[in-house]
Amino acid sequence: MDKVVIVTGAGRGIGAQTAKLLASQGYAVAVNYLKNHQRAKEVVEDITASGGRAFAVQADVSDEQQVEAMFAQVSERYGTVTHLVNNAGVLFSQCTLSEIDLTRFKKVMDSNVVSCFLCSKTFINQLDSSGAIVNVSSAASRTGAPFEYVDYAASKGAMDSLTKGLSLELASRNIRVNGVRPGCIYTEMHADGGEPGRVDRLGPQLPLGRGGTALEVAYTIAWLLSDEASFVTGSFIDIAGGR
Ligand code: NAP
Repeated sequence: MDKVVIVTGAGRGIGAQTAKLLASQGYAVAVNYLKNHQRAKEVVEDITASGGRAFAVQADVSDEQQVEAMFAQVSERYGTVTHLVNNAGVLFSQCTLSEIDLTRFKKVMDSNVVSCFLCSKTFINQLDSSGAIVNVSSAASRTGAPFEYVDYAASKGAMDSLTKGLSLELASRNIRVNGVRPGCIYTEMHADGGEPGRVDRLGPQLPLGRGGTALEVAYTIAWLLSDEASFVTGSFIDIAGGR
């Protein structure tokens, strides 16, 4: 069976590097994006120029109908989806919890947790064989991200619980579910949080003395999806420079 993967939020950052790496390893890749068609198109062009297989698929992964339509489109093109990377996520401006309004809190939960639930559910309901999911959580699930984004941290904590529970539900089907917890990775997400230079500020304080790259996260995701990690499920790998 062909290895077919959906990487959510793959137009830029960690998702884009993961999509490119997986394509180089022989996966047919669905490059999901929300708004930025141009960036997703560039990822697909990079992959196809190197001889890989990929196409861009627009869907808001916090919307059930759009998730179902995305899986249908991918299966029609490449066959059953065998691997899933729940990478799409958002964060908003740094502030204290008392400054977060309900609309923002719900938006973060929808984008980061509901998306993971919907994509995972749709994935396992269409899969007859073994397979693997990697959930892109965050070091924030451990730290709580005080004075920055407690809402974001809470969403990643929920994602970790979902990872653990689902891994145990699916173990007998040999569908593995693992999580990665990046921290301080050079991507455009920090600008959305209000501080584009955040990684330059915090990187030197980490035990490894620097921020990380999206490719360093992608290598770990690719390993967890691969058969080399065939005895690993319900596990979390911190990719946060030692913190
Ligand atoms: P990023 O550059 O902001 O990319 C996130 C992507 O998610 C965007 O391209 C966006 O698509 C997409 N997205 C957002 N909401 C979506 C939705 N509802 N449906 C479909 N796509 C959606 O972020 P990143 O830094 O690469 O982060 C990727 C993942 O790693 C996130 O889950 C993040 O929480 C996690 N993470 C990052 C860091 C870090 O330091 N960078 C640390 C810990 C964890 P469009 O551009 O098309 O709108």
